[in-house]
Amino acid sequence: MLTELKENPACIECGLCREVCPVFTISRDETVAPRGRAVLAAASMAAAGTDSPTYYQCTLCRACRVACPVGRDPEGELLRARLVAAGTETDANREMIANIRRYGNPFGPLQPGEIPKKLTCC
Ligand code: SF4
Ligand code: SF4
Repeated sequence: MLTELKENPACIECGLCREVCPVFTISRDETVAPRGRAVLAAASMAAAGTDSPTYYQCTLCRACRVACPVGRDPEGELLRARLVAAGTETDANREMIANIRRYGNPFGPLQPGEIPKKLTCC
């Protein structure tokens, strides 16, 4: 079972996390891989705010943390919370949160048994 960290270990840029990351497996894009995100987060959250979809592609599975030799946490929830606090989250995320608050689900108004026509996501 994963435990919360008081301090997140620094990334040593070994790249092992990329091999278990489902997002990197599909995209082959370093900027959305855990290693790339660690480098971006260390460089500047201001820069991250202009590219918030990068942080919403993470599925929050934490497979990268299990594979990481230093146990680095991808901090997906924390990064998203910072984007929301800074008002730089994606429009889709804003809509999803509004739907949950208003209708109790991420899709918007639904009749019983109705299948959502739109999947609101990041
Ligand atoms: S938590 Fe996010 S970055 Fe880590 S392996 Fe899962 S999808 Fe990739
Ligand atoms: S496995 Fe850990 S130390 Fe290695 S690149 Fe990924 S986050 Fe950095």
